[in-house]
Amino acid sequence: MEHRLYINGQWREAADKKRFPVTNPATGEIIGEVADASADDAKLAVEAAYQAFKSWSQETARTRSILLYKWYQLIVQHANELANLMTTEQGKPLKEAEGEVLYAADFVLWYAEEAKRIYGDLIPASSSSKRLQVIHQPVGPVFAITPWNFPAAMITRKIAPALAAGCTVIVKPSEETPLTAIRLVQLAEEAGFPAGVINLVTVSDPREVSDLLLSHPLVRKVTFTGSTEVGKLLMRKSADTVKRVSLELGGHAPFIVFSDADLDQAVDGVIASKFRNAGQTCVCANRIFVEESILESFLQKFRTKVEQLQVGQGQQQGVEIGPLINRDAVEKVERHVQDALEKGARLVCGGQRLLDDKYKHGHFYQPTILADVTRDMLISKEETFGPVAPVYSFRTEEEVLELANHPEYGLAAYVYTSDLGRSVRMSEKLEYGIVGINDPIPSVAQAPFGGFKQSGLGREGGKYGLEEFLEIKYVSVQI
Ligand code: NAD
Repeated sequence: MEHRLYINGQWREAADKKRFPVTNPATGEIIGEVADASADDAKLAVEAAYQAFKSWSQETARTRSILLYKWYQLIVQHANELANLMTTEQGKPLKEAEGEVLYAADFVLWYAEEAKRIYGDLIPASSSSKRLQVIHQPVGPVFAITPWNFPAAMITRKIAPALAAGCTVIVKPSEETPLTAIRLVQLAEEAGFPAGVINLVTVSDPREVSDLLLSHPLVRKVTFTGSTEVGKLLMRKSADTVKRVSLELGGHAPFIVFSDADLDQAVDGVIASKFRNAGQTCVCANRIFVEESILESFLQKFRTKVEQLQVGQGQQQGVEIGPLINRDAVEKVERHVQDALEKGARLVCGGQRLLDDKYKHGHFYQPTILADVTRDMLISKEETFGPVAPVYSFRTEEEVLELANHPEYGLAAYVYTSDLGRSVRMSEKLEYGIVGINDPIPSVAQAPFGGFKQSGLGREGGKYGLEEFLEIKYVSVQI
């Protein structure tokens, strides 16, 4: 498989010939070595993206749409292969990886269609001798930075609308998961995108390459998915050249279960939300609020199901929870659990790193439930990013709203209730960009995804995702 950089339609080694290893988090094995870009490579990528922008931005919407559609078909045709690769480098169970590949492909399909619907406006003028028009134009070359937890979908959710809008891109995937990115770009090449329209730089330490691209005047837009801490840094670094910035950052999702909810549905929902990708998703249930009157019956059902979850290598049949991405991730989970227990949380199940023979070379942690969790615990303030479910209790709607709205994060929130009025009140008062009512996995290609507060800026998905890559131009014609 190709492990080089892709710049101006060519696969090439890094200028200084460096490479870095990629490991399987379930086994610790090195599964490949990829080119390690430097600022020199990044300069070539900007030049390529800038030159290609001149012609790509002038292509017809139809041509852009057809190429996107070919890319979509190739991703779907190679779904099994991509999913296997993703599981090997990222760890998620194969079934989840297959689901992610199809979700990733969906963005390409959706924007292949939407590429043809970038309309303008005609505004009624105050004078009969004027015609006022609004047209949309691509912002220019885009720098896209993606995380490791969704190695395919975070790339297509950015690249597909950018290409549909007429932008060219330089994508920098996470150093933990460059292989899925490389394969996706190979398929884009096969689909026939012209040289320079998509450029890929893989790099082990992102700082030098990112600093060059963030300060480069020819890069007109930065789109980032990752932690809030890094997002703020990139925003500051984009300020000197006043780039357009989209940020999809961290979350601390509340998952609220009222006593009028269908309890079995709520337990299944919280398992889907919390334990997907071993708890390594930005929208996963991070704080589970259960109405006091049903707390113990909820915990009992929840515990029974969580204890049945199969942990192991993602390729093995029946596995539902894979490894965490690396050693640091496991240590963070350990720190959060220990801090909660020291401050009075009750361990309902789990609570240990898995170290016996079956797991010893990977980064596995038991699915864990903590009850009696309070606001002063680390787990209530920071993203744990692991398979730990902290459960709190509440008595009233007002109280839980106050607890659920977070001072910093505002990405996703979930409410389980059978009361229609309550579902409307809650969805309006929760300070979150995404609200799932009796729905643990609301994300789809056609709907807006993004956060309030320090969870981000802008939206991805749907018509909103396309607007992020378009400038608005006003033209006044005197006739
Ligand atoms: P991260 O912020 O550590 O890294 C994300 C990307 O930024 C990677 O490509 C990394 O190489 C790059 N990066 C890191 N430091 C950098 C620097 N100093 N300069 C330039 N680039 C830098 O995040 P992660 O650990 O890969 O992903 C997990 C985080 O992403 C969590 O906080 C999660 O909530 C968030 N996330 C958000 C969404 C969303 O849509 N809102 C989706 C997935 C993940």
